[in-house]
Amino acid sequence: MSATKAVINGTEIKVKAGTTILEAARQAGFEVPTLCHHPELTPSGNCRMCVVEVEGSPRLVASCHTPLAQGMVIQTHSDKVLAARKAVVELLLTAHTGPCVNDSRASACELHKLAAELEVGPPRFQVQAPRFYPVENDSPYVRRDMSRCILCRRCVRACREVAKKGILSMAYRGFQSKVVFEADDPLNSEQCKDCGVCIEFCPTSALSKPVEEVA
Ligand code: SF4
Repeated sequence: MSATKAVINGTEIKVKAGTTILEAARQAGFEVPTLCHHPELTPSGNCRMCVVEVEGSPRLVASCHTPLAQGMVIQTHSDKVLAARKAVVELLLTAHTGPCVNDSRASACELHKLAAELEVGPPRFQVQAPRFYPVENDSPYVRRDMSRCILCRRCVRACREVAKKGILSMAYRGFQSKVVFEADDPLNSEQCKDCGVCIEFCPTSALSKPVEEVA
């Protein structure tokens, strides 16, 4: 079986050909943070949290979907990389307007955990037109709060790849972007039953189990 040799953070490594940079870094003991990535789902590279510096590359590289190439020299925690990751978190926080720092779902929010780890404070800038959709708690199966959604699409991939249903998709554009069920059907329309896979894969509790609202 062919192998790929590279250097990560000064350590020479050898991994199976086709291994991604992220997998190789983790195998070598270097923890690279991720958000849109989940090991059980097809990598998409859309959030840029997992970027690394590759010698000779003018741009930072998303490690979750980039295969390690022979002879690559990689830095996973350089100043440039850390600055880029902080900027990603700060940008996501600007649109993550839900109250998850104050409620029982705070401990489940991977974005806030990353913000704490990377020492990112409240965003310095505001989005011009914050996305706003009311919280929906009408379904017996799922509660949707788009103010917590970071558009990572993990739920969409999990619905297709794990639950094998393909009910979820992204709809609308820009600040109106929204995770929808079928053709943006109401959540209680019985399109989506109780598999709970999207809830399990959502990193921010934008999708969660229904709760009894306290008046
Ligand atoms: S609902 Fe959750 S999993 Fe789906 S895109 Fe939003 S944050 Fe990601």
